[in-house]
Amino acid sequence: MRAAVLHETGQDKLEVLDDVEAVGFGPGKVRIRVRATGLCHSDLSAMSGVLPQPAPFVPGHEGAGEIVEVGDGVAHLKAGDRVVVCWLPACGACPACRRGQTELCLAGFMNAGTPNFRRPGGDVFGFAGTGTFAEEVVVDAGCAVPVPDDVPFDIAALIGCGVTTGLGAALNTADVTPGSSVAVIGCGGVGISAIQGARLKGAAEIVAVDPVAGRREAALRFGATRAVPPGELPGAKQEVTGGEGFDYVFEVVGKSATARTAYENTRRGGTLVVVGAGAMDDFLQLNMFELFFDEKRILPSMYGGGDVVRSYERTVALWRAGRVDLEGLITHRVPLAGINEALDQMRSGTALRTCVEI
Ligand SMILES: [Zn+2]
Ligand SMILES: [Zn+2]
Repeated sequence: MRAAVLHETGQDKLEVLDDVEAVGFGPGKVRIRVRATGLCHSDLSAMSGVLPQPAPFVPGHEGAGEIVEVGDGVAHLKAGDRVVVCWLPACGACPACRRGQTELCLAGFMNAGTPNFRRPGGDVFGFAGTGTFAEEVVVDAGCAVPVPDDVPFDIAALIGCGVTTGLGAALNTADVTPGSSVAVIGCGGVGISAIQGARLKGAAEIVAVDPVAGRREAALRFGATRAVPPGELPGAKQEVTGGEGFDYVFEVVGKSATARTAYENTRRGGTLVVVGAGAMDDFLQLNMFELFFDEKRILPSMYGGGDVVRSYERTVALWRAGRVDLEGLITHRVPLAGINEALDQMRSGTALRTCVEI
């Protein structure tokens, strides 16, 4: 079958090959025919080495498709079921799962050293244990979350990562208060989803901050009340908050420099929500006086910071009711053969989400 493979960490292009096989099928596993997959910024971060990931590997972790085959012991799925590929499955039994914080379950990482694919030349890993830039994946049954048949594959794919992450940051982690002031730094697909979440929660002002003009225009369509390039954030802070700072600032870039900017633009007693996935050697500096004296709350948000399956169901309900726009997030579509073009669109910031149709 066909899959897009990164041969070595640090390369910026994938090779679409037709000699790849999805491996590991057996008890407790499912085989999924991938139909659509979104390109998420974390795929680029894994390719460049910012996020740890053994190579060679098939990127892609935001996918949807249909079940082809289920292994022994899998009772809740059958061939033909439409599923979201969840890269962070919940085991249901660990302390984090029992507390309802399934986003902190580590079960999905236990297979990190196990290859998901094979080629004549050797083993190939799947990013985050999935690898959805492929026609088929074999994953733990917990990584296949059923969605109703009226949810198109491209929409279901987005729910698998970016939308869940951004919406959840606003709805679960920040739990934005109605009437509050919000700034969102970084307005790709995840940042736009955080904007939609803040709008749903009734934020009065939502300031979108992004260097790319097209993203600022998109942010206004999705509910931002104003949109500025980074250099104009101080002016917006002055106009919207009288200089005090925002009640909530979402950092959706994953860099210490933007996290520091976000911290400084959060009001005393306000909330900085860290959504971006950054590098292990990139350190955020805070001094002990400001940390104590300004009483700003720093809330990291992993995969939307809440029960993952519940978050999926909530997103489907909001989408069906027309209260979140997911179609509008898909700005580009390519076949698997066009994957490198899609990577370039992502790097240049012209795409909110590119849907790869497989
Ligand atoms: Zn668990
Ligand atoms: Zn992602």
